[in-house]
Amino acid sequence: MSVDVDVVIIGAGAAGLAAGIGLQSTNLTFLILEARNRVCGRAHTDLETFTPTPIDLGASWIHSYGPKNALYNYHKSFDKDQTRTRPVGKRLRLDYNGQPFSSETLFHAKKIYSKIFQHLELYSYNAKKDQDQSIEQFIQSKYQRLVPTDGPIKRLVDLFVSGSEQYEGSNFTDLSVKQYGIGSGSGGDRWVSFGYGNLLERIANKHNLPIRLNTLVIQIDTTDPERIAITISNDPAIIYCRRVIITIPLGCLKRDTISFVPSLPEWKHQAIQQMGMGLMNKLIVQFSQNFWDPNLRSFSHACNERRGRFRFTICIPPPTNILILFVTGAFARELEILTDTQILEQVMKFLRQIFPRTTILDPINYKFTRWLQDPLAYGSYSNFAVHASPHTIEQLAKETSDGRVQWAGEHANIDDGTKDWSYACVHSAFQSGQRAAKTVRDQLCFS
Ligand SMILES: Cc1cc2nc3c(=O)[nH]c(=O)nc-3n(C[C@H](O)[C@H](O)[C@H](O)COP(=O)(O)OP(=O)(O)OC[C@H]3O[C@@H](n4cnc5c(N)ncnc54)[C@H](O)[C@@H]3O)c2cc1C
Repeated sequence: MSVDVDVVIIGAGAAGLAAGIGLQSTNLTFLILEARNRVCGRAHTDLETFTPTPIDLGASWIHSYGPKNALYNYHKSFDKDQTRTRPVGKRLRLDYNGQPFSSETLFHAKKIYSKIFQHLELYSYNAKKDQDQSIEQFIQSKYQRLVPTDGPIKRLVDLFVSGSEQYEGSNFTDLSVKQYGIGSGSGGDRWVSFGYGNLLERIANKHNLPIRLNTLVIQIDTTDPERIAITISNDPAIIYCRRVIITIPLGCLKRDTISFVPSLPEWKHQAIQQMGMGLMNKLIVQFSQNFWDPNLRSFSHACNERRGRFRFTICIPPPTNILILFVTGAFARELEILTDTQILEQVMKFLRQIFPRTTILDPINYKFTRWLQDPLAYGSYSNFAVHASPHTIEQLAKETSDGRVQWAGEHANIDDGTKDWSYACVHSAFQSGQRAAKTVRDQLCFS
């Protein structure tokens, strides 16, 4: 029977690009099908709205930066010709009214916070066999005993606590206590000055990959053992292949955006539902003049209404004058359903509260991401919901249809037993794509 290509890769994000690069060294024919009109998926750099400043709407830091990172050499080679350096300057922790905390408050809050987290780390280290529960449930009694009901110490402890919630893109009420802190790799982070999405795009261009944009896959039929039939939305012609590598986001898998014939096995369904999907959005606002200390690189804010609200902001100094507010979890979900005007109102109210002695004019430009409403993402990145575990990731990555269907993506980077292992990141997605390509190479080139 005829096939169009040996391998179809679905999705041209980090995982799909890596899978494509991994197949280039073979004689196999392959095609990457991407629904968007661009590559890079959730690592997208906006080069137009705030021109000439590149702004990452998704990923912006290379986590676990170092020679073992799959993207390290690419970054090194492309970074050479960059004149813009990493953002440098002060980082501040501000109370709800923009005031810094006293050293006494800082001392007490740090002490309480470290007690809560020692308790948490000890639990996740020792109690692997216990029933899982949410981090919130687990820390509740300790929190109530140690943290005052009101005042600056409480606000500062909440600011520290919400750091992990921000990182995971979910509130502690949704996260597994047993998996606390695992899978986040090792080493430091590196801000990509020219844009993380831009870096991936350069990688795609360098390898001149066969990518078909504006191609939404709606069905994968593996009934015929000789060839897999891929249906796309805007073309009646079926694409036939011998292997398929699926890299679409976990959020899309949860919503069944692609139909499978026959249906996926129950264990795959369960893993898809079990793994958590976090939400991080960026609210980017540009002003005609800067009203903050030009040496300020970022500030975190201790909210007096609710833990983690407008927790973290990056400041890009003059002449750019941009603030990037990071919002996550339940708060981000609530904001997403508002109009731009309503979100902007909240942002401006917050900024005027933090900088009370300055007149802040309305911004000249703004952009708000809505990753949860994006039908090609349905969320930002995966995390360990209560009852999810590294085994869930193994199931998400496990092949189906007798090995003819391979799975990759940030949510499917299996634990390799090293301290460098991570999931949910761009480089982990890339690694998962490399692994899927290797499996297909082993199957088709050495059989
Ligand atoms: C706001 C935000 C901040 C982040 N910050 C960081 C960070 O600082 N560092 C970091 O490492 N990670 C960060 N991440 C996570 C990181 O962006 C992702 O983990 C990574 O980009 C995922 O890559 P992927 O290839 O698995 O998926 P994606 O990049 O989502 O690629 C999947 C592709 O599949 C396409 N697709 C979906 N459905 C179909 C279909 N039916 N047919 C065809 N194509 C389809 C999508 O359009 C997409 O291009 C962040 C994410 C967000 C949203």
